[in-house]
Amino acid sequence: MREYTYGPFQSRRLKLSLGVDILPKCKKCTYDCVYCEIGPTGKRDLVSPEFRIKAPPSNNFRNELFDILKHVSHLNSITFGYNGETTLNENLLDFLKIATEVREQIKWSDKKPALTIFTNSSTLHFKEIRERVKRFDLVLAKLDASVQKDFEITNRPHEETPSSEMIIEALVKLKNEMTRENKLAIQCLIYNSYRDDVISNNNEENIKQLAIAIKKIKPDMVQIYSIARIPAQYHVFAIGDERKREIVQFLKNFVDNEKIEINYY
Ligand code: SF4
Repeated sequence: MREYTYGPFQSRRLKLSLGVDILPKCKKCTYDCVYCEIGPTGKRDLVSPEFRIKAPPSNNFRNELFDILKHVSHLNSITFGYNGETTLNENLLDFLKIATEVREQIKWSDKKPALTIFTNSSTLHFKEIRERVKRFDLVLAKLDASVQKDFEITNRPHEETPSSEMIIEALVKLKNEMTRENKLAIQCLIYNSYRDDVISNNNEENIKQLAIAIKKIKPDMVQIYSIARIPAQYHVFAIGDERKREIVQFLKNFVDNEKIEINYY
């Protein structure tokens, strides 16, 4: 029975990726996204961005990682994230240090796997969190909505979560503080809704505001994707590839910056 890792599995965006979950085995998140594939965030598990968990790595982490990595010499990513918001764990850097050391011990057949972190971006207004996150080779930061109303409907954030405007400012700071070697990808999950009273983030104003935000943040990559598994709420469903293509084209034209790779998955 593994304590921290799952996979490796083929991911559309990360290729062969080993998942690392550093939160205790129950979801803790600052959001309750309508599309969350691990189910709704319970009342007690929806926490403030100021909430911190102290869960240092046990000896199992190093052993588990080493045992898996020595058998998968073509891994593309060691990916932190799964059971909620990873940056809530105060011991994030202890895990990163061990993962970096284990990665150095292995002889890779191709180039070394990237150390990757998923964040929902809700804690990035704290400088100490940006300092931790920017040490990963690749930061995948969620930004589904730039319009406050769409943010509230889509991500259903804890009441102490900063506004979408503040989150965008934090992403601008993060990008400015990162080195050239470490990459920032903004991930936008766009979906549709069956319910007339729940407007999804797939609306023209939100897409335009996302484009404005991306132009400001200047990430290395933008990844447009949609729901791929069973969502937390029954009334949401995936947008099709044609719509993803349209959004990508709109963003490319609007952002007009060749250094930013914009793709859909
Ligand atoms: S941020 Fe991630 S883990 Fe949290 S509710 Fe949203 S999709 Fe689920």
